[in-house]
Amino acid sequence: THFGFATVKDYEKQQRVNKVFDEVAQSYDLMNDLMSFGIHRVWKDIFVDRLAPPPGTKLLDVAGGTGDIAFRYLNYLKLKQPDPNSHVTVLDINKTMLDVGKYRCDALGHDPSLITFREGNAEELPYENDLFDAYTIVFGIRNCTRIEKVVDEAYRVLKPGGRFLCMEFSEVSNTTLQWIYDQYSFQVIPLLGQLVVGQWHPYQYLVESIRRFPNQDHFKSIIERSGFRQVVYENLSSGIVAIHSAFKL
Ligand code: SAM
Repeated sequence: THFGFATVKDYEKQQRVNKVFDEVAQSYDLMNDLMSFGIHRVWKDIFVDRLAPPPGTKLLDVAGGTGDIAFRYLNYLKLKQPDPNSHVTVLDINKTMLDVGKYRCDALGHDPSLITFREGNAEELPYENDLFDAYTIVFGIRNCTRIEKVVDEAYRVLKPGGRFLCMEFSEVSNTTLQWIYDQYSFQVIPLLGQLVVGQWHPYQYLVESIRRFPNQDHFKSIIERSGFRQVVYENLSSGIVAIHSAFKL
């Protein structure tokens, strides 16, 4: 099938995800700010800080959407270590999200030679083996049909010594916070979607997909099974999100 899905069911699931992001693309950045009170910006800043890409890093940002991680990387290069060999590729399965990303890239005045936007599937990356120095995926892997396949593909396209870094919503450690967070996620977020962009269902889907995603330790074991070494994770905001880091050695 298109993009190499194994079964019709997987294909259909991905089609539903694509529809969600088609519907939210134009309001994606605004809604992120509203839903997280702007905290997603802080999480993303911390994420790129943890990546601390060495000079000349060729980064693949998968499920990169409207470019938030890529633009932070470009800012990092500008401020800390300009290097003509550095490059970032934003890969996403959804063309509408990528189009918003390209528009923002222009508007932000980034050097177009440092960034490539590419349509593709995280489960079947359109690249040969051992190509990138770093692989990032932020709030994207839980939308994919086969998580294991995504991590296998990350391993495959990374050079030996390459770094895998993933940020995703995860399991909250504190039960009181968990309760508040649940109320907020299930009651307030779909309502915000309805009020701001006239859409309830895409936001309900986003919240449900967070609950279905494996917790910190389970996801760590999935990463280890793909062959990665030095797999560690760090919780942010009591585990509302977690950053998993690993190396292909
Ligand atoms: N990384 C961006 C950020 O943090 O703002 C975007 C995250 S957004 C919640 C999830 C993205 O994953 C969407 O742009 C969606 O199109 C993309 N996506 C979903 N399934 C995918 C797949 N199988 N391969 C590549 N991208 C996918």
